[in-house]
Amino acid sequence: MGETIAAVSTAYGEGGIGIVRISGARAGEILGCLFCRPGSPGRGARSPGIGETNAAKTFAFQNRRMHYGHIIDPSSGETIDEVLAVYMRAPHTYTGEDVAEIHCHGSVVSLRKILEKILASGAVPAEPGEFTKRAFLNGRIDLAQAGAVIDMIRAKTDRGYDAALGQLEGRLSAKISDVREILADACAEAAVNMDYPDEDDAAGDEAAARSVEARLTKAKAAMDALIATADAGRLIVEGIRAVIVGKPNVGKSSLLNALLRESRAIVSKTPGTTRDSIEEYLNIKGIPVRLTDTAGIRDAETDLEAMGIERSKDALRKADIILLTLDGSLPLSAADRKIIAELAGRLTGDRADSECGTVIAVINKRDLPEAIDRQALALLLPGVAMVGVSAITGEGTEEIEDRIVSAVYGGKARKGESVMVTNAAHKSLLLRAAASTEKALEMLRIGEALDFVETDMREAYDTLGEITGQTVTEGILDRVFSKFCVGK
Ligand code: GDP
Repeated sequence: MGETIAAVSTAYGEGGIGIVRISGARAGEILGCLFCRPGSPGRGARSPGIGETNAAKTFAFQNRRMHYGHIIDPSSGETIDEVLAVYMRAPHTYTGEDVAEIHCHGSVVSLRKILEKILASGAVPAEPGEFTKRAFLNGRIDLAQAGAVIDMIRAKTDRGYDAALGQLEGRLSAKISDVREILADACAEAAVNMDYPDEDDAAGDEAAARSVEARLTKAKAAMDALIATADAGRLIVEGIRAVIVGKPNVGKSSLLNALLRESRAIVSKTPGTTRDSIEEYLNIKGIPVRLTDTAGIRDAETDLEAMGIERSKDALRKADIILLTLDGSLPLSAADRKIIAELAGRLTGDRADSECGTVIAVINKRDLPEAIDRQALALLLPGVAMVGVSAITGEGTEEIEDRIVSAVYGGKARKGESVMVTNAAHKSLLLRAAASTEKALEMLRIGEALDFVETDMREAYDTLGEITGQTVTEGILDRVFSKFCVGK
């Protein structure tokens, strides 16, 4: 580690305050070099350089106490900003090293100038995620917890935030440790039996094999339970993509607006033309939903329209949820049937290029007399849920929301699950570990000796260790921290 790092830790832009963070052995010394208290002799005159009065100045900072003063350019004595500064001694800090923070005004210019002076005083710019990486390398948090930090920063809804917070608090890590312990016990039991093979004691061997099998079964069940939360976990943090499709005038834009009224929008509309797709972010019962209103799947009449249609098809391919919107006050038209055929093709899986999301048939305009043939629709789209709504009055939109929520949870993960796997890499590691465990179990079931299952048990143990960082390589670390922003 060695070097002292620094970065702006708050978001760039105008703000009430901005924070520059320094971590490493020289954090206090550098802060001492740039910081002057009111009325201190350093102010307005050349401040002492690095190495001159460092010890005395650093010493003057009380541990974890906010100090009011100014940041001064040490070469000119000029004031850069009025700040609050705090110095925190290792090891009880975010990184586990000495940390200093300068809370200045949230101006891009002030933040840049202060960071420049810190770097000129001997710190190096922090890499993205380097503060958190140091926290991991210093044993403050494990790798799963480090990954949770980024999920928390990015969470768009309370549910996503709670899932990430649970992981930061070590709930996932604790579960993983429990499973590893069971696997370790299984390995130990197998090893004892291998070291002292008693040729005459077939009954004893059999008993040991059954006992190892029982442990592995327990570990496998725990892994499966975690895996079952993974899809919902990912969607809760990253959000789901939903698209509204349908021919013109069925009420797609009205439906989008009705859903927006119901659920708190997260981010406002991205601009688009009527032929383009329009995107909105909604918060549907704690799930971030990126909802796209498409131009509809129609035959291209003009190039401009074709472009919109290409986008629609692309949105459809990526969608987790498809809201097929129909005008319930009219019989099914040829244009409706064309769109339905397109979706039905995806549903039956004869299109290898797309994994179709859940389709919900939204029968709009229920405030008008119904003319649509629901039975015909049910035959065209077998198994697809139909929801009658009125985009104008908002009636029925609650049911759409409920359908979206149950599609996300897929009936597998319970809503109140205390531990959720939110990270795709964790899911694939769990799947790998579960597969190794299953392989070991199969061998035991067909009566193989314990010697033969040891490798698979070990592999499962090590693979799980990659989640928490017990078995970790530089490549894994890079993968985890590459998602971070500078300053975190
Ligand atoms: P889009 O082309 O599919 O986006 O359809 P719009 O949302 O622009 O709606 C087309 C027309 O249908 C507009 O005149 C809407 O006011 C009307 N409309 C939309 N939803 C409803 C509804 O639930 N009930 C009734 N009566 N009219 C609706």
